[in-house]
Amino acid sequence: MINRPSIPKEIERKVLIEAGHRCAICKYTRIEIAHIIPWAESSDNSFENLIALCPNCHDLYDKDKKIDKISMLTYKNNLAVLNQRYGDFERRILQHFFDNPNESQIVLWERDLDVLFLVKDGLLKPLDRKYANIINFPPKDYLLTEEGKALIDSWKKNHCLK
Ligand SMILES: [Zn+2]
Repeated sequence: MINRPSIPKEIERKVLIEAGHRCAICKYTRIEIAHIIPWAESSDNSFENLIALCPNCHDLYDKDKKIDKISMLTYKNNLAVLNQRYGDFERRILQHFFDNPNESQIVLWERDLDVLFLVKDGLLKPLDRKYANIINFPPKDYLLTEEGKALIDSWKKNHCLK
């Protein structure tokens, strides 16, 4: 068995505060820190891979497999939205996909930093398409990922946006 490093205190605190010290799913207040992609697969103790869950929801995810990974990522992404992790521009992109359910790609002239958190959290994925005829400041194509679609779908079900 490989030594598993403990989660740094400041990351643990950030994860707990992100969820308001409540289970990200059922809001119960007895919580522990869970890995979204299991430690055994990811060795990833980063903020992005951690979520606050109660022992019951943690078991439903890790042991019983009653909650799947896309759902767990959606809970995590919803926390990010609630905590205003995304800037105005990023929120407008999410709104665009909400308003245009048949679209899954968007062309942007903005710079990578403007969509940093959407990309980092796996909601948008930059594509490689080259615009050969635009030399100075070529646009970039971005794809709404499965995780991104799941987040938008969850808003539709909960009537979060108009
Ligand atoms: Zn729970």
